[in-house]
Amino acid sequence: MHILVTGGTGYIGSHAVVELIREGHTVLVADNLVNSTEESLRRVAQIVGQPIPFVNVDLREREQVERMFQAQPKFDCCMHFAGLKAVGESVAQPLRYYENNLNSTIVLADVMGKHGCKNIIFSSSATVYGTPDHIPVTEDCPKGIISNPYGQTKSMIEQILTDVHTADPGWNVVLLRYFNPIGAHPSGLIGEDPTGTPNNLMPYITQVAVGKLKELGIFGNDYDTPDGTGVRDYIHVVDLAKGHVKALQALERNCGVAIYNLGTGRGYSVLELVNAFMKATGVNIPYSIKPRRPGDIAIYYSDPSKAKRELGWEAELGVEEMCADAWRWQENNPQGFQ
Ligand code: NAD
Ligand code: UDP
Repeated sequence: MHILVTGGTGYIGSHAVVELIREGHTVLVADNLVNSTEESLRRVAQIVGQPIPFVNVDLREREQVERMFQAQPKFDCCMHFAGLKAVGESVAQPLRYYENNLNSTIVLADVMGKHGCKNIIFSSSATVYGTPDHIPVTEDCPKGIISNPYGQTKSMIEQILTDVHTADPGWNVVLLRYFNPIGAHPSGLIGEDPTGTPNNLMPYITQVAVGKLKELGIFGNDYDTPDGTGVRDYIHVVDLAKGHVKALQALERNCGVAIYNLGTGRGYSVLELVNAFMKATGVNIPYSIKPRRPGDIAIYYSDPSKAKRELGWEAELGVEEMCADAWRWQENNPQGFQ
């Protein structure tokens, strides 16, 4: 298939490009580099042994998007990773998040439809479940109250794409709800490259390990969990990328709107992840217990059985690989892609 990968220079998109090329697909990566650099695609090219076609496009700019479609053979599908994703930043800059994430998707879907490409796989998030109705979280769990504008954009985009399908059933929409993607490609060539101090647990751990940060703060040890720290469903980014390739099957059988959780189905606490990291890498992670982070919930993990049943996908890599690969990337690239 010929696949448009928006946001393909970013963390998850770049890993998806590797898996798509490996499976024999052709791609065009479109990104405005607001949170990434083209260096990631040079690294992807090194991994797959071929150059990766790229256009610098802001998806909110209709003319740019039109030009991109006109210059390409017809796309069979778009994997839509592009978007702003920092939860805290979205609370401080709500209009920027709504404007960027919603407008880019609206322009993209409109131009796709006009060019006869009506297949989209969207990067959604488990955040749309809010405080979930039940654990493990299944796809039929109702959407919950979402506490930040970033998560709202995910929920709204899910609705927009669902409405696009309702208006024109020729569309196929796959909504992939990611749990907690971590890790990096085992080559150590690509990985997560956050700007500023990381908010998420694994990049914080790796930056402590490499000496950029002094110690990890663990946000609360008085939750109702076995060791008191928060439990999440961490998934290796390579497994997540493979899930996208498998999701192409749903489009091929005209799925309409299909929702899949992408997670492992196994929860790890913060302390378990820190201990797994120290064991996998031999690097000590100093930490101290801090107050709970507002908005966090105690336990969150997926039931990923629908993706296994319908797509034949399940996560294969364990927490050891997640830690070892995240560390290889960080150790080899202490300044990220710079
Ligand atoms: P990322 O920031 O590394 O990648 C997103 C890419 O989108 C960046 O390269 C950025 O430059 C690009 N982009 C943003 N706005 C754009 C615009 N208007 N036009 C063109 N390009 C634009 O993020 P990621 O971690 O790779 O996440 C990919 C997707 O998955 C995002 O939509 C994110 O919200 C979603 N997601 C991520 C996580 C996670 O933990 N990383 C979890 C759930 C969902
Ligand atoms: N966490 C932590 N210290 C940090 C970052 C995160 O203790 O510096 C905890 C957080 O409270 C949660 C877990 O690690 O229990 C995962 O947090 P992350 O921000 O990575 O993901 P999310 O909150 O989106 O699930």
